[in-house]
Amino acid sequence: AKARGRNGYRFYALSMTGEGVERLRLEAWLRRSIEKDEMFLNYQPQVEIDTGRLVGVEALVRWNHPELGLVPPVKFIPLAEDTGFIIQLGEWVLAEACRQMVRWQEAGLAVPKIAVNLSVRQFERGSIVRTVDDILRATGLEPGRLQLEVTESLIMNTGDALQYINGLHALGVSLAIDDFGTGYSSLAYLKQMPVQTLKIDRSFIKDIDEDANDEAIAIAIIQLGKSMNLSVIAEGVETDEQAAFLLRHGCNLAQGYFYSRPVMPDDLLRRWLP
Ligand code: C2E
Ligand code: CA
Ligand code: CA
Ligand code: CA
Repeated sequence: AKARGRNGYRFYALSMTGEGVERLRLEAWLRRSIEKDEMFLNYQPQVEIDTGRLVGVEALVRWNHPELGLVPPVKFIPLAEDTGFIIQLGEWVLAEACRQMVRWQEAGLAVPKIAVNLSVRQFERGSIVRTVDDILRATGLEPGRLQLEVTESLIMNTGDALQYINGLHALGVSLAIDDFGTGYSSLAYLKQMPVQTLKIDRSFIKDIDEDANDEAIAIAIIQLGKSMNLSVIAEGVETDEQAAFLLRHGCNLAQGYFYSRPVMPDDLLRRWLP
């Protein structure tokens, strides 16, 4: 029995090691993904509901690994955050998104605005304002064309968040609060922040026609945005009914599969620009 127990233990330990090795391998691959040119960006349109006009795009990172294939962000963003690689990746995403905007502009096809996600870890070194400024200068993108998406938890849990947000605002970029309503945020604190946009999280939009709570929350966020003079955009809009609901309640901006999935730059041009 003892021997079996030991074997059992050994087997368990080995399988744990297997998992650890797997993770280490993924980490090592991830670390080299940028230099190996495996990362790329997709762009998802943001649309004015009543006119169908393109008002912006959100840049979303994709990892194409030769063995793993296309790895979705949910599988590697958390790992990148754990290991700190997100700092490098986040800078690459920002630079690539800005370069793409300049390419579109040079082709005479001005996309109004590009939104880029920032992770909380990108604020930890205290140099985020400088980094964004450097990238804007290096790429030549007008700051007013860039919107940075941050979460409520980043704002609430980062020491000096107000200072960083003010610094970014002073560069001339705009700020959006992503996944709004899923985190905890103090409205009094929010009011001090030079933020321009609230993004209603997809989880509230999903069942908006059936779930009275979701409906109430979405309406409350739209009202809140109005009273704070912020623009409000709904994410994850998949149906005509959801879009109509939003419009009816005073939200005229949306992003979601109903309009377009995230796409490659050329597809964006083909579909959205004259
Ligand atoms: P997010 O910032 O909330 O981005 C929206 C996500 O919802 C994207 O998933 C998008 O493809 C998906 N989506 C958009 N419309 C619809 C819809 O109508 N229905 C459904 N079911 N989904 C929709 P994606 O690209 O897989 O990204 C997932 C998350 O990964 C993002 O959520 C964001 O938190 C993170 N992420 C992606 N790219 C970056 C990046 O460059 N930097 C950082 N820090 N995080 C990123
Ligand atoms: Ca986002
Ligand atoms: Ca979001
Ligand atoms: Ca979301």
